[in-house]
Amino acid sequence: MDLDRLQKALQVEADNGFNDMQGNQYRFSEFICLSFGQPSPDIPRDRRQQLRDLGGKFADYRHLGFADRRNLLAEARQLLSQTKKYSNTAPATPIVAETPTPANTTKTTSKKTAKKVVAKAATKASSSAKASSTGKSKGGARGAIDLDQPVQYLPGIGPKSADRLAKLNLFTVRDVLYYYPRDHIDYAKQVNIRELTAGDSVTIVGQLKSCNCFTSPRNSKLTIFDLTLKDSSGQMRLSRFFMGARFASRGWQENQKRQFPKGATVAASGLVKESKYGMTLDNPELEVLESPDQDFESSKIGKIVPIYPLTEGVPADLVRRAVVASLGAVEQLQETLPGGLRQQYELAEIRDAIAGIHFPDSGEVLAASRKRLVFDEFFYLQLGLLNRRRQQQGGHTDVVLEPTGKLLSQFYDEVLPFTLTGAQQRVVTDILSNLQTTIPMNRLVQGDVGSGKTVVAVIALLAAIQAGYQGALMAPTEVLAEQHYRKLVHWFNQLHLPVELLTGSTKTAKRREIHRSLQSGELPLLVGTHALIEDPVQFDRLGLVVIDEQHRFGVQQRARLTQKGENPHILTMTATPIPRTMALTLHGDLDVSQIDELPPGRKAIKTTIVTPKKRQEVYDMFRREIALGRQVYVVLPLVDESEKLDLKSAIVAHQDFQTNVFPEYKVGLLHGKMTSAEKDAAITAFRDNETHILVSTTVVEVGVDVPNASVMMIEHAERFGLSQLHQLRGRVGRGAAQSFCLLMTASRSETSMQRLKVLEQSQDGFFISEMDLRFRGPGEVLGSRQSGLPDFALASLVEDQEVLEVARDAAEKAMEKDPTLAKWPAMRAELEYRYTRLLGGAILT
Ligand code: ADP
Ligand code: MG
Repeated sequence: MDLDRLQKALQVEADNGFNDMQGNQYRFSEFICLSFGQPSPDIPRDRRQQLRDLGGKFADYRHLGFADRRNLLAEARQLLSQTKKYSNTAPATPIVAETPTPANTTKTTSKKTAKKVVAKAATKASSSAKASSTGKSKGGARGAIDLDQPVQYLPGIGPKSADRLAKLNLFTVRDVLYYYPRDHIDYAKQVNIRELTAGDSVTIVGQLKSCNCFTSPRNSKLTIFDLTLKDSSGQMRLSRFFMGARFASRGWQENQKRQFPKGATVAASGLVKESKYGMTLDNPELEVLESPDQDFESSKIGKIVPIYPLTEGVPADLVRRAVVASLGAVEQLQETLPGGLRQQYELAEIRDAIAGIHFPDSGEVLAASRKRLVFDEFFYLQLGLLNRRRQQQGGHTDVVLEPTGKLLSQFYDEVLPFTLTGAQQRVVTDILSNLQTTIPMNRLVQGDVGSGKTVVAVIALLAAIQAGYQGALMAPTEVLAEQHYRKLVHWFNQLHLPVELLTGSTKTAKRREIHRSLQSGELPLLVGTHALIEDPVQFDRLGLVVIDEQHRFGVQQRARLTQKGENPHILTMTATPIPRTMALTLHGDLDVSQIDELPPGRKAIKTTIVTPKKRQEVYDMFRREIALGRQVYVVLPLVDESEKLDLKSAIVAHQDFQTNVFPEYKVGLLHGKMTSAEKDAAITAFRDNETHILVSTTVVEVGVDVPNASVMMIEHAERFGLSQLHQLRGRVGRGAAQSFCLLMTASRSETSMQRLKVLEQSQDGFFISEMDLRFRGPGEVLGSRQSGLPDFALASLVEDQEVLEVARDAAEKAMEKDPTLAKWPAMRAELEYRYTRLLGGAILT
């Protein structure tokens, strides 16, 4: 029974929201059942029974509700924590090589997370007498708080409070110390109620004069919590809204009022808006800083008070009390960063940083503490990613290519109809230098729509082919695969090289022929969709895999394609440029190249924000363009989460256009619910200029290439992310004619306008994604399709770019100095600890 592994599993399950995560081998609940069912013989007998009993309860875990799962987990964590503390088990083999334990060491804990081991060692040195504990499970010496001690034994925290803290995933003293405040209130910089300006985000602190909680007489699902706050400058009324039947219960409402006793000091944060009662905050976050009947006073803890993220039923006072009580254990925290590194990057010590993030003496201390902790979050992620890259590069490939050769020079001299841009040249050089080594390439090329990624991929493929290898090019949709295929056929014919297309709709006979010629090695290049990774496809000598629009494929799919060869080189491409902070966070394990320059002679797409009032003018413009022989896209947003609505809006709009607005033209329709044959038909009709206007949902975003289209109108433009709008806009401006993009919006909001103006003013995908990040956060840049971004507790990809750069730099230097990190055992252990949490289910093996 590996206590540490179990503890980690419990931790990760809690991190994942108690969803009974699936490991490689078992589900979480199965894993716990099995492990608890077989406790090691060196654990005391009564404890073994407890473990088995508790393990049995996990058999039902899947059928438990959220709260029960959480409670069961809390129980398991406590039991493990106690078992570990008081058992005399010998240490299990550490995951990472530790400094060898001297054979005569009397009592060692079974911990192997070295962070804990070292921290433990420090405690031991100071209180070795205590280490030979008596085996009594509770109490322990007064004063000395252990980092891994359950919160229940903290002074002032009993079993009941411990249960409440468990709702926040706070089980041990360490958990509490690493539970960072979401904000701080600086009394010195407090905003007065009188001085509020609509549109600002503020926190105000005031005395509670009265409060009331009631269900709306007009809407039985809506419950309103009203309160009046007063400070030295004046008073204001605030309302919080709760939707749902359960808030309508008297019990809940009474309880809510009880939590806000008259006279309490309350902090309210939110956006200031004007109401008929004067200035107020929009559905503010509320927190009781000081209850009149609590002896816990904020004045005792300085002028800067932490505000913790809370959940229902966990009073703010309780968290603050737990933190204060835990601070005594800060001294046991082990510094994981070498002194030199801390000095070089001016980072606070971990103990100071943890103490300072909770109760800083000044704004400077808070900033320094935050910087250190943000650094840690970035640094260990980068270290992990670089480590992963190193492991991949540890792989060896026999595919070593020549950067020059007959095929390539022939391509440059006879086939390529233009000269490469400087950016393309640079990226080609990056790629070719990778291909000349025995380390498998794993490179991502980022470049805006139309920046010319295809030709870069072709050059890499030709390098593979001229060396006698095969290449594969995979695209996410049939339309896109076919486009690539057409371009490649055109070029490859001139080089007398065969190339084939394999998609879901390839006929059986053709498919067989492709399989055969691939396996025999006659076919040097295969283009296709995910059909490429379907099983019967076998290459003779796959040397290079190119994946276009890589973010549309899962990790699994990418891996399966590369498994078709022996460590082939991998080139991935994306037309969705993302800001550097996000690129480092998501792709820190890849080499990244950017094509940040468009081929010459491209005309900028004239982009204009228009309001519905201008609709007639817009339609007149459509007519003018169509009269010139050009074509028009009309794009509709996802109206709702529900695909049905989405579909309906496109269908309705299409009908309206065809019958009412443009009866004289042919109007096509394209949406995600059509079969791929129907989609193809719609796209083909548009490409062949049989339809003049194409009404579409966002499915046109990828892969539709109709150079004759010169106008795009996007309805409800304010509902899209900027990057997505930019992506959509890239469907026009592909031909010689001046193109136009019209962003239709009825929104009057200032921020909507500011956002959309970015598109009017810029055509640079990197800049636009950077602005998207600033306006709407990382989720918007990536779209809902994928995220993959780790959850940082403190770090922000918007605000902490500098720290991220520094952390990346530090991680690179550390890996260069000692790729095994053996020089810094504490750092290595911390990496492992954090990475386990990031990797989630992998622990259940
Ligand atoms: P994307 O990066 O969106 O995949 P493509 O590779 O499809 O872009 O290239 C867009 C268009 O630009 C193609 O018609 C391509 O032939 C052309 N192109 C690419 N590179 C250059 C260049 N250096 N000079 C002129 N035209 C180029
Ligand atoms: Mg492309």
